[in-house]
Amino acid sequence: MTRTSAADQLPADQLAARLDDVLARLDAAAARAGRDGREITLLLATKTRTPQEVAVVVDLLRARDRRIAVGENRAQEIAKHADPMLADNGVPRHFIGRLQTNKARDVIAFAQTIHSVDREDIADALERRAALAGLVREVLVQVNTSGEESKGGFAPTLEAVGPILERLRGSGTLRPVGLMTIGANTSDATAVRASLRGLRELRDQVRTELELPELEHLSMGMSGDLEIAVEEGATIVRVGSALFGARP
Ligand SMILES: *Cc1c(COP(=O)(O)O)cnc(C)c1O
Repeated sequence: MTRTSAADQLPADQLAARLDDVLARLDAAAARAGRDGREITLLLATKTRTPQEVAVVVDLLRARDRRIAVGENRAQEIAKHADPMLADNGVPRHFIGRLQTNKARDVIAFAQTIHSVDREDIADALERRAALAGLVREVLVQVNTSGEESKGGFAPTLEAVGPILERLRGSGTLRPVGLMTIGANTSDATAVRASLRGLRELRDQVRTELELPELEHLSMGMSGDLEIAVEEGATIVRVGSALFGARP
């Protein structure tokens, strides 16, 4: 379901207003945590938005001197990045969605960073495809810190993530750079914070106990919980609806 009609395009001034609202939220949360909002990557979760809309936001972020990434969560949406509006604009492309082994080739070709390694067989498939393509890709291991059954990911313990991280450490084509989670799906801010803080604590534990200092990134925080995520140490927040509106 890719939109093409001009009538559906979000006006640039509306995108700019929403973006400045998101950046103000991010900066205020960063300030509360003694951090600089400019060091946090704003990943655009573009879903079905058009190349034109994504390009407008990328330009606005560049003008504001921000770290940017563009993320897709469906292999079907990857094709839009061949569009001249997005191709070769120098913005890192990430993959954030649930992976299937039969889409590994497309994802390896498209994304320099893959956030959603949630099973061993996905790591195997990505590694094989990266080797065939002669590419090295960054990966994050997805962790289920909320315990919600609908969510993928490894359990939030050193015992659960240790083996996959050791396996990735030994890979010649996949480089483990961080952990990713989707926060608890609840309006209870305490539960949301616990699910996000848990990812930071796990990363810190992995870094010291597995001697993996390169495991730097925490990909966490979306439109509804980005402030809590930034306060808890997110290095990449993934934002969709706060910029592009509710999904159809
Ligand atoms: C869509 C999506 C987001 C962004 O969600 P919003 O609530 O719209 O900001 C973040 N992460 C993943 C994995 C997504 O699929």
